[in-house]
Amino acid sequence: MNRREFSKRMLILGIGAQAGSAKGNQARSRNQFGNFYEEPAKKLPVRKFDVVVAGGGTAGVVAATAAARQGAKTALIEVKGYPGGTATEGGTALHSFYNLWKAFPGAKKRQVVRGIAQEIIDRLLKVGGTSGHAEMSKGYNYDSVCTAIDTEMYKLVTFEMLVESGVFVCVNTLLAGAIMDGSRIRGVIAESRSGREAFYAKSFVDCTAYGDLAAFAGADYKVPNDYACCNSVGIGNVDIDKYHDFMKSKGRIEQIAFGIRSGEPDKIVRVQGPRGQAFSAEANKIGMSSVTTTVHDNYLMFIKCNFKVPGTVLSRDDMAKAELEVRKRMAKAVELFRKYVPGCEKAFMARTSPKLCIRRGRLITCDYDITHEDVIEGRHFDDDVMAYGFHDSAPRYQVKNGGTYGIPYRALRVAGIENLLVAGMMITSDHRAHMSTRNTVSCMGQGQATGTAAALCAAKNCETRELRYGELRKALQQGGVYFES
Ligand SMILES: Cc1cc2nc3c(=O)[nH]c(=O)nc-3n(C[C@H](O)[C@H](O)[C@H](O)COP(=O)(O)OP(=O)(O)OC[C@H]3O[C@@H](n4cnc5c(N)ncnc54)[C@H](O)[C@@H]3O)c2cc1C
Repeated sequence: MNRREFSKRMLILGIGAQAGSAKGNQARSRNQFGNFYEEPAKKLPVRKFDVVVAGGGTAGVVAATAAARQGAKTALIEVKGYPGGTATEGGTALHSFYNLWKAFPGAKKRQVVRGIAQEIIDRLLKVGGTSGHAEMSKGYNYDSVCTAIDTEMYKLVTFEMLVESGVFVCVNTLLAGAIMDGSRIRGVIAESRSGREAFYAKSFVDCTAYGDLAAFAGADYKVPNDYACCNSVGIGNVDIDKYHDFMKSKGRIEQIAFGIRSGEPDKIVRVQGPRGQAFSAEANKIGMSSVTTTVHDNYLMFIKCNFKVPGTVLSRDDMAKAELEVRKRMAKAVELFRKYVPGCEKAFMARTSPKLCIRRGRLITCDYDITHEDVIEGRHFDDDVMAYGFHDSAPRYQVKNGGTYGIPYRALRVAGIENLLVAGMMITSDHRAHMSTRNTVSCMGQGQATGTAAALCAAKNCETRELRYGELRKALQQGGVYFES
């Protein structure tokens, strides 16, 4: 029997990859009738870094770029084949680089998130990949600007920025474990088709949205499951102006913004309003949201279909059912556009997200938990790392007087772990406060703060709590970060 025939026979007998090795056979005979399989120990190759960032999404891209720009030898571990995360898969537009000045007569217009987040927009502008910061002409009680992006160009531009900054970018790589030394992380396990490897580093940033690294490290967390999950469809072959005229004829355009579309300025890039009773009744049944944005003439970027997962977003099997349900809803959504909305008669599903987007996975316990009062009262802290002024529940909840609140460094330090920071949707337990801190531009700002802090800690051989705030603030200011005071 040659090797190929042997493998084929083993396959027929249902014996897996370990077949043929003495160790594998022993393990198999020990466990074949039990409910557990004991994995044999393995020696893993080690790579050494100053900073490891887990998750190359909205926050992670910025965190890794910031760390590398501080001179830290930085690795980014991202399970998908591209960076960008939920900003490229779920959001309608990037909220928000500005305070809500338009809703508060007399309030001063301020761009409150700058730094690397703004650099991404500058680069997208050069390649026609954004509407720019398009001021809302209507609906500015919700936001003052709409910054829509071309999701595919975002992936490319951020990938290039990471590489140019010197980040060792590991895409298609799963972060699969943490190697602990007491309450310090010594390294992480990275798993890809190149094999399992250990990545050692001095400081770590968890930007996985799910809080995978924090959980592997033994951090305290909750899984609130307090939001619907969502997939979003990009709908192609639509006539935006005809679509807008139809909405206008219904007499209730609630939001509109004009910006760059297919290279031309002053074009509609955001429209919201009711599309008729029949449409709305059917849209409600599939959890479809009504805001449309675009940066291209014949395309609606993010038509969202929401679904509250029964069970938990951490369960593979609960999510599998939800993935199918939402795919059915997305097909229905396109059908509704074709049926009811002039300009969309020949619309088709041009893109979907590769998987369901969560609004919150694990909520990681940090040294400070931002409250809703902090947000709406516009509180700042003596260790602010950024300012932010957007609330996704506006106009019901807004930051007082169109101002900003601060995100403090302590809100990004994981309780009980010496060298781990988190950025993104994993912070802020209060659902209403989270409706502000979880938004893309906030996550990007948190990314710059945590990446910079992690790099400084690595350079100084200190833990996250030992880093002097003055040094962090100075480095952030040098990196273009805006502080309110
Ligand atoms: C449907 C939806 C609509 C939204 N709409 C808006 C909006 O219009 N405007 C707005 O500003 N905000 C919006 N938000 C909120 C905002 O988009 C997110 O909160 C924000 O993008 C989250 O950023 P993040 O960095 O925490 O996570 P993500 O951007 O999701 O990044 C996490 C990354 O980690 C990777 N990852 C996860 N686990 C692992 C692992 N074990 N190993 C390796 N990689 C891993 C993922 O692949 C991903 O790339 C929306 C969110 C959703 C879900």
